[in-house]
Amino acid sequence: MSLIEVDEARNIILAKISPLGVEKVSINEALGRVLAEDVVSGVNNPPMDNSAMDGYALIAADIQTATPETPVALDVVDEIAAGYQSAGTLSTGQAMRIMTGAPIPRGADAVIMQEDTEKGGGRVFVKDRADVGENIREAGEDVRIGETVIPAGGPLTPAQIGMLAVVGRSTVYVGQRPRVAIISTGDEIMELDERPEGPCIYNSNGYMLMAQIRSAGGIPCYLGIARDNEQDVMDKFTTALKCDLVVSSGGVSVGDYDLVKASLDKLGNEMVFWKVAMKPGKPLAFGKIGDTPIFGLPGNPVSSFVSFEQFVRPAIKKCLGQKNPMPGTVNARLTRNIRKKAGRLHFLSAVVSWDNGEYTVTPAQEQGSGVLKSTVNANGLIVFPLPATEIAAGEQVAVQLLT
Ligand code: AMP
Ligand code: MG
Repeated sequence: MSLIEVDEARNIILAKISPLGVEKVSINEALGRVLAEDVVSGVNNPPMDNSAMDGYALIAADIQTATPETPVALDVVDEIAAGYQSAGTLSTGQAMRIMTGAPIPRGADAVIMQEDTEKGGGRVFVKDRADVGENIREAGEDVRIGETVIPAGGPLTPAQIGMLAVVGRSTVYVGQRPRVAIISTGDEIMELDERPEGPCIYNSNGYMLMAQIRSAGGIPCYLGIARDNEQDVMDKFTTALKCDLVVSSGGVSVGDYDLVKASLDKLGNEMVFWKVAMKPGKPLAFGKIGDTPIFGLPGNPVSSFVSFEQFVRPAIKKCLGQKNPMPGTVNARLTRNIRKKAGRLHFLSAVVSWDNGEYTVTPAQEQGSGVLKSTVNANGLIVFPLPATEIAAGEQVAVQLLT
């Protein structure tokens, strides 16, 4: 097994992953899906100059002397509600009552808001001056015909769904979601509805991985538990190859019953087994059988969790067509000293908060690879670089934010 750094392992993995196809979905189904097309507007928004206020459309030059003490009287010649247009043209000395969103009538060049007016006897008394263009939203101010309003390659946000509607799109092309098979391995692993007996533990990794896959945008396909014999492991992997990606947990280190490597060897080609220079999560199997990428993650729950975040989540994002599949980080100020030996990059479960205009981060006291509780309470992973041995409280560190 060769030793490899996290970034290098991730780069090798991503180079072997290709985006899946695209599919058309309703914009009601598109939230969080990765946009597979540049969305170009076929309309101007707003489609025409319109009023930003409830008030009166008028000619700015008519009311230059208007003050509360010396109001200017204008004849009100029409009323325009949103969704309607005035047939008339405004002349000097005239105003039209206008509502927010209604089109500016011909001849008008400003809108005075209702609060700066008083009405009486078919006239309006304007108590403030206005600049040309005041309270007018110009045609195309938000979006112009031919403009790219959302670029391909990111997960769609609520505001982007709103923009799709602005430009009249009811459907949109998004990346297909990969189906990701999950295989747990181990004679000691039992299903959740089994009665705890002897030295057995529940299949926590299987369910955690399903949730991670879902949160990354994949579709989990749970294949249950493979027992620690080659045939069972091979059978499960053979079934798993129907999916777009395969993730297993356990059986990849150097114990007598760590059979994932041998089973995969028998099934196909291109497997690599690495000791990744990271903690938790040193052993990692990665490869492809046919076109299907396979990730053999370590069995300790925190190792499985962290390895997924480093390697599988970016792979799923790449399958989805996401432009930047790398884990996102923020810089945060450490609240206490941390130490380790050089030679491996450590990921520390931690709590990030926003205090007085900056991120601060506190690592969990307990960082064992079997202590899932620390990760349960964490919202970030401190990236403690490979060569470093100590980082003092008060220094800035990179933190991956957990989703
Ligand atoms: P292994 O990599 O198979 O040697 O497993 C390492 C440790 O992780 C052992 O203590 C296993 O019991 C534990 N483990 C393996 N698979 C799971 C799982 N699916 N859920 C919870 N713990 C597991
Ligand atoms: Mg095992």
